[in-house]
Amino acid sequence: MENKFIPVCEPMLAGNELKYVTDCVSTGWISSAGKYVDEFEKLFAVYCEAKYSVAVSNGTVAIHLALKALEIGSGDEVIIPSFTMIASAAAVCYTGAMPVFVDVDKDTWNIDPTQLESKITAKTKAIMVVSVFGNPCDMDSVYAIAKKNNLKVIEDAAESHGALYKGKKVGSLADITTFSFFANKNLTTGEGGMVLTDDIELYKKVKYYKNLCFSLDAPRNYIHEDVGFNYRISNIHAAIGLAQTEKADDYKAMRIKNGKLYESLLENVPGVVFQKVNEGDEKVYWMNAIVIIEENFGKTRDELVQHLKQNQIDTRVLFVGMHQQPGLLKYGCKPSGDFNNTEFLTKNGFYLPSASSLTEAEITHICSIIKNFQTQ
Ligand SMILES: *Cc1c(COP(=O)(O)O)cnc(C)c1O
Repeated sequence: MENKFIPVCEPMLAGNELKYVTDCVSTGWISSAGKYVDEFEKLFAVYCEAKYSVAVSNGTVAIHLALKALEIGSGDEVIIPSFTMIASAAAVCYTGAMPVFVDVDKDTWNIDPTQLESKITAKTKAIMVVSVFGNPCDMDSVYAIAKKNNLKVIEDAAESHGALYKGKKVGSLADITTFSFFANKNLTTGEGGMVLTDDIELYKKVKYYKNLCFSLDAPRNYIHEDVGFNYRISNIHAAIGLAQTEKADDYKAMRIKNGKLYESLLENVPGVVFQKVNEGDEKVYWMNAIVIIEENFGKTRDELVQHLKQNQIDTRVLFVGMHQQPGLLKYGCKPSGDFNNTEFLTKNGFYLPSASSLTEAEITHICSIIKNFQTQ
């Protein structure tokens, strides 16, 4: 075991993936027409307890479509957390609107609702929340502010397939929710995404913009009332997605089991801090992120990451805040206030290996290397 390389994340394709993909190839249904797109959309909506679903080519364009459906564009502002993956912000820029950043809570690492109101202006149209690493956001607090200020709520749930907020599935909480099925996500199609909503009008707009604004009622008339996008997913990718969704509860259970094992093995190590989950919620452990408090751990995050690397254990540092992204500053973002919690996570946090397929022996091995290094 000592010499075996442990990657930070690899997909698990343990169900009907190959069978369904083979069916696509052998029948010739390899483009975006085909039964797997419909079946994947239906099953994933059922899994997330949402009414309507549209499968798309990736999680980034899913967010773009959600924003388009809400008619967000040039001159508008969308509030997003500063601690997220770049796609949340980039998708806002695609519409011509301006992303406005709010720092995250120091314990949950999700958008801090107490800082939201100070960022709302006459131009604000929506709040985008991101359930970071599969940890549900405090939606009641976000909605209270959204309602009071007449704002829409979008959830970028790219990291939280199957997570529960107060017993309800992420995917049915916001006005519109998006998912990613990139290879390292809890459910994957290789590349893929999904938009979910309970609002039929938003659903129709997402379908319309996804497919170049072909008329939904008369697609063969070749008249396009708006400028749309080709964000279609292929039947092959959807075939993998259907097989993954069939086993969604199994994959979720594996991530949770692994995440909880890390927590229990490292809970007494001084200076190792985990993300906090609000009472009554269920996190689905996309990535097992930890933060190293140098004065208690005795070594820096970078020293630990280096030590793990020497032991064939792959890791990744956490996101750099949106307020520090050169591309977003060039676009015109003008971050205001402080982002201390985001900067703290960027400087001191990293992911441990997180694949669903990790074994108990591998996790135990990784944790003992961390513990031994701390006491060295
Ligand atoms: C992965 C991810 C995305 C982007 O998804 P892609 O499918 O890679 O385009 C968006 N937001 C968050 C928070 C993500 O983690």
